[in-house]
Amino acid sequence: MKVTFPHMGTAYIPFRALVTGLGHEAVVAPPCTQKTLNLGTRYAPESACLPLKINIGNYLEAAELGADTIIMAGGIGPCRFGFYAYVQQEILRDIGCEMEMIILEPPASGWRLLLERLQFLTQGVSVAQIGRTLRLFWEKLVACDRLEQLSLAVRPYEISAGSTTEALEQAYREVDRANSVDLVRRALRSGMAWILSVAQDRQRPVLTIGVVGEIYTILEPFVNFRLEEQLGEMGVVVRRKIWFSHWILHHLVLSAFRKQREAELFRWARPYLHHFVGGHGLESVAHTVQLAQEGVDGIVHILPFTCMPEIVAQSILPSVGKDYQLPILTVVVDEHTGIAGIRTRLEAFVDLLASRRMKTGVHPLRERPVPAAYYTRP
Ligand code: SF4
Repeated sequence: MKVTFPHMGTAYIPFRALVTGLGHEAVVAPPCTQKTLNLGTRYAPESACLPLKINIGNYLEAAELGADTIIMAGGIGPCRFGFYAYVQQEILRDIGCEMEMIILEPPASGWRLLLERLQFLTQGVSVAQIGRTLRLFWEKLVACDRLEQLSLAVRPYEISAGSTTEALEQAYREVDRANSVDLVRRALRSGMAWILSVAQDRQRPVLTIGVVGEIYTILEPFVNFRLEEQLGEMGVVVRRKIWFSHWILHHLVLSAFRKQREAELFRWARPYLHHFVGGHGLESVAHTVQLAQEGVDGIVHILPFTCMPEIVAQSILPSVGKDYQLPILTVVVDEHTGIAGIRTRLEAFVDLLASRRMKTGVHPLRERPVPAAYYTRP
């Protein structure tokens, strides 16, 4: 089979290893561009979420490269993600694009369904080979996240703009090329060394901004207009708690233990949100409280236009911001959003945070009263 999958940041690196290890040809769609978005918006309903449209563009571009099968994650819960893959399947069928879609539902919706679909992908592959492939997949996934995490901490101090991103991309290429666990680990070590060797001015004062929101918009740089890179180059250390490896672990592997994880999020989100709202809406509220208590200067909340869980979070975050005296910038993206508008808003937000810092002279958190919500946590 010639197998493709939608883009989401660096997810193509571990997924290429997964598909190849299971004996199929991996067809990686070209990186998301305006052409991808145009293809998606041409065929998807206007009111569909932006990620669905971009996925459609990815599939069509991969089909041009010969892909005949798509792997897509399924979902459960109150948001539209549960229907996503099925709607995409119908759209492709309507436009005459004959591609097989393998929808990997989370175990919480039934192990049998998941195992049946995995069986289709793993036919004729030995158990030992499946084990090796999954291990390589996981190593690459974690390596990409660790490299990105490090780049967020280094970029604001770089002397030459873009040098951290250059080192990061070189490191990603090495991880992508590595075909064994040992080689991935070696690529990770050298990648971290390249990023750390970027010329830096460690005396430079920096701000810290937490990024929360819908996972796809956070992880896919084309959709968020390279938001984290832009902030880093403005002298901001970006902190976030959503990583692709965490999502795979919790959504696909440990989804049977979803309740325990949700209980932890509810503890953080109390008293602002008491129930699951789908997607990452609960995480957005819980992570904002966590990041506020960790002392970030501000929060950027990013979401696709009409994203239901994040609209709920958006209506709650002003209360969190008020209690913690924390400025929050909401960035809504869709196919009409332009980079100039995003850039101007980010610059204005960073200026505002910098002037707050200058006025207080110390980290704003130290001068704030501890909000009541803090005491209500168990
Ligand atoms: S989380 Fe938001 S963007 Fe993602 S499927 Fe649900 S409604 Fe759409």
